[in-house]
Amino acid sequence: MNAKEIMILRHLAARGIKDARVLAAMKKIPREAFLDEKDRPFAYDDRALPIGDGQTISQPYIVAKMTQLLAIGAIGKCRVLEIGTGSGYQTAILAELASEVFTVERNPRLAERARGILEDALGYGHIHFSVGDGTLGLPSEAPFDRIIVTAAAPSVPLPLFEQLGKNGRIVLPVGERHAQRLAVVSMRRRSMPGGGEPDVEFDDGCVFVPLVGKCGFSEQ
Ligand code: SAH
Repeated sequence: MNAKEIMILRHLAARGIKDARVLAAMKKIPREAFLDEKDRPFAYDDRALPIGDGQTISQPYIVAKMTQLLAIGAIGKCRVLEIGTGSGYQTAILAELASEVFTVERNPRLAERARGILEDALGYGHIHFSVGDGTLGLPSEAPFDRIIVTAAAPSVPLPLFEQLGKNGRIVLPVGERHAQRLAVVSMRRRSMPGGGEPDVEFDDGCVFVPLVGKCGFSEQ
């Protein structure tokens, strides 16, 4: 067994990642491709690693867990919005499962680094990259079937909620700057036309770098 297979058994399958499509995507994507050379020996350790500018590539378990919570259906078109491209590793996992992925990153250097890996090196053609404040979503491309935020939010940014399509769901870490919980936000349907209220379910505890923007945390 190689290091990636051990990671999948020990850190994902043994800890409740059951979705076969998520496990297949985690098995296919080379995490080392998203790391700087000095960090490649640690690619299949189950921990976050630095990618420059104080940002990190997420821990494999959390990437798999959030993707599983997102519940991207097996059939049909699914448009996914990701806020916080970072290294692009989570983006690649989403691209394996969704028909279209829109990803927004506020740091232009990281956005270009991720684009180079995903488009030029790995050859993905259905990922759309934007640079900007993702707490405002991506109104020009809304609505989205699924939205994932890979940075810590103080609360659910309202624009994301407004850009969610019918039967949509948002997965994001919500909480304080240094400790959060994963949250799954969906619409609970009511009988009244146009009715519906947000339903929030909390899952694992986690620690992400802050989501910095108009509907996020302030810069330090
Ligand atoms: N899923 C990524 C984790 C990225 S870390 C990975 O596996 O590599 C979080 C990223 O969110 C950082 O790159 C940070 O620059 C970005 N970010 C923080 N606030 C943001 C905002 N308002 N809009 C878009 N990106 C943001």
